[in-house]
Parts: sequence; structure tokens; C-alpha cells
Amino acid sequence: MENSDEVLSTRMEKDASSSSTTASRTPLRCARCRNHKFQILVKGHKRYCKYRNCKCYKCKLTADRQQVIVKQTMMRRNLTQDEKKIRAANEN
Ligand SMILES: [Zn+2]
Ligand SMILES: [Zn+2]
Repeated sequence: MENSDEVLSTRMEKDASSSSTTASRTPLRCARCRNHKFQILVKGHKRYCKYRNCKCYKCKLTADRQQVIVKQTMMRRNLTQDEKKIRAANEN
């Protein structure tokens, strides 16, 4: 009689060795290419990305997120510009 009921219960793979923050917040690789399992550096690639106009679900999400970020940055830039103008107007 064999009691081999002890399955692989303890399968904890601890990756404590990689504690350094290698993944920064800014993605250096093309997000669209990443959607298609390609790891391509963004630098000088954007215009030549073959998924530039990809309409797949993932790329759509990526584009949406990018647009939001672009809008946010633009708004922030406008705000700082306004602040500068107001400050300049107050000084005069
Ligand atoms: Zn790409
Ligand atoms: Zn795509």
C-alpha cells in the first residue's frame, strides 16, 4: 500500500536574489512591440514600429494610455505656463 498523496504542495519559488529595482517606471522598450512579444528598444524606433498602426486590443489599450499621458503632460505644461504668465503679470 502506497500513500503518495503528498503532492507538490510546497512549490514556493522565492526570488529574493533580484531585490534591486531593475525595472524602472519609464518603459525603454516599445510598448506596442511588447504587446506582440517583441523586445525592441524605443530609441529611434517609434517611427519604424511595424505595429505603429496596429488595431489589436492590446495596442489599442496602449494607445489609449499613451494619449491620456500625453494629455496629462500637456495640461501640466499649460498650467506651468499659465503660472509663469500670471507671475510675470503680477511682477509688472
Ligand atoms: Zn514597436
Ligand atoms: Zn497590436
